[in-house]
Amino acid sequence: MNLVILGPQGSGKGTQADLLIKKYGLSHVDIGLALRNVAKAATPLGEKINEIINVRKELVSDHVIAEVLEHELSQIPAKSGVILDGAPRRVGQIDEVENAFKKSGRRIDKVIHVHIPETESVIRISKRYNCTQCQMHLILGKDVHNGDEACPSCGGRIEQRPDDTVAGVRKRLHVYRDETLPVVEHYRQQKKLVEVNGLQRVDQVFQEIVAKLEK
Ligand code: AMP
Repeated sequence: MNLVILGPQGSGKGTQADLLIKKYGLSHVDIGLALRNVAKAATPLGEKINEIINVRKELVSDHVIAEVLEHELSQIPAKSGVILDGAPRRVGQIDEVENAFKKSGRRIDKVIHVHIPETESVIRISKRYNCTQCQMHLILGKDVHNGDEACPSCGGRIEQRPDDTVAGVRKRLHVYRDETLPVVEHYRQQKKLVEVNGLQRVDQVFQEIVAKLEK
């Protein structure tokens, strides 16, 4: 089974992707994470991507997405199903993503859309921290109590993403509304869409996804 998961910032799609990976033995392709890793490199491409995602808070170009995705898919054994997190993020990427899947011998079976209101996105993102070592998602006030604490799972340094400021989230939500929601509509018309309410508890969102995938 090959899945795509889409949702606005803070919708919990990363958490749901991790649960789906465990349940169905999928491999994870997180395009945002792959780009953030490229952005950390002191190379011309790294500096360019850093400027786009962390300073301008815009989307990177479609051909970069296609290249990164093809590279990521080529690292995964052909027999393994995948869950793609974060693309296609605009209509122009739909064909690029489908071609990359085809080249790796796969097709998209279902597209999951986890939706939450924009006000909730802003609240959740202001509390979002990540471990720089094990990449665990941590919530301020629940998993950690201030930004100077170590990761409760591995002891690594924790940080907030540089694009997770309130102004940064608002800008990315605009981009999501204008550019990504038309992609969601495309997959609705294709009858591939699985829509879930991201305001429920994590386990309830997961149950809803599984029930709809297995219907
Ligand atoms: P994310 O971790 O999914 O929030 O992605 C972090 C940033 O990477 C986004 O705000 C975009 O700047 C960039 N990005 C991620 N996925 C895509 C995509 N499919 N197309 C263009 N830019 C992307």
